[in-house]
Formats: sequence, C-alpha cells, structure tokens
Amino acid sequence: HSGFIAILGRPNVGKSTFLNRIIGQKIAIMSDKAQTTRNKIQGIYTTDDAQIVFIDTPGIHKPQSRLGDFMVESALSTLNEVDAVIFMVNAEQKRGRGDDFIIERLKNVKKPIYLAINKIDRIHPDHLLEVMDDYRGALDFKDVFPISALQGNNCQEFIDTLIKDL
Ligand code: GDP
Ligand code: MG
Repeated sequence: HSGFIAILGRPNVGKSTFLNRIIGQKIAIMSDKAQTTRNKIQGIYTTDDAQIVFIDTPGIHKPQSRLGDFMVESALSTLNEVDAVIFMVNAEQKRGRGDDFIIERLKNVKKPIYLAINKIDRIHPDHLLEVMDDYRGALDFKDVFPISALQGNNCQEFIDTLIKDL
C-alpha cells in the first residue's frame, strides 16, 4: 500500500496538527520550512507494508492578493499529483464560504475524497450529527471520519482506512 495524499482545508482547521500526529509516531521525513505555510510540507508515514506521503497544503482560501493567488494555485496543483484527498473541516464552525470555495474546486477531482471532521474534542457529541448534515451531499465522499488531531481520537482508524484503500 503506497501513495500520495493531500490534506486540504481552511486555515486553522488542524491540518498541520494531524500531519504532526501521524508522522510523529513513525517518523521518516518531516520538512517544515521556516514555519511558513507557503511551502507544501510533506511527511512520510511508513509501516512494514505501507508508505504514504502526506502533503500538507497552505490553507486554501479565496485569494486576496497575487501571493494568495499563487498559494491557492500551488495547493490546487497538488491535487493533480495525489492519489487521494483529505478535506478537513473544523467541527466547531459552521460550513462557510471558505469551505464552499474548496468544495467547488474539489468537484472536478476524480479521486477519493475523505471528509475529516476535526476538533471533535471541542464539541458535544450531539452536535456532530449537525456537522455531518452540513456536509452531506457537498461532495461524493469516500468516507467520513470525525477525529481529534490534537488528542488522537479516531486518528489511527482513519489512517488504517486510508492505507487499506490505497
Ligand atoms: P492548519 O492551519 O489547518 O494547519 O491548523 P493547525 O494544525 O495549525 O491548528 C490550528 C489550531 O487548532 C492550533 O492551535 C491547534 O492546536 C488547534 N487544533 C488542531 N487540531 C485540534 C483538535 O483536534 N482539537 C483542538 N481542541 N484543537 C486543535
Ligand atoms: Mg498548517
């Protein structure tokens, strides 16, 4: 099982935290260039029978500037190079224009897309159903995983599924 997976989402949903968590256990390579989000950051997760390269993208948002434009283009061009995509959202926030901007761009992507609902440690379990409802039908998700990248809830199950599907 091997392949490339991009992690997309609005700024601050927890993409880097997730990457750090999964790479933290089985570290191979982690480049974090001058803590800038302008560069794509890659982490390689390896086990005896799997190798996945995770690509952390700069938060995609509606560009406000030429530089912003470039960053968004860079994040979107990553989509051509990967085998699957993780679309990460924040369980605390309602689906907003920032999410819809990304959803629109993912509509043409013919690759498996996983919805990761992060920060579930911050919400009441009942609220999770509302969040899932919010995204139901937005894209043809291959799978949906509520997780806490910070505390680790459901993260291993998520990775195991990604590996199995690759
Ligand atoms: P990114 O911009 O998507 O890469 O988001 P970061 O990984 O930098 O996280 C943004 C903030 O959210 C940081 O303060 C993280 O500690 C926090 N955060 C990330 N994941 C979680 C989570 O699962 N639970 C909670 N409570 N906070 C989180
Ligand atoms: Mg980040």
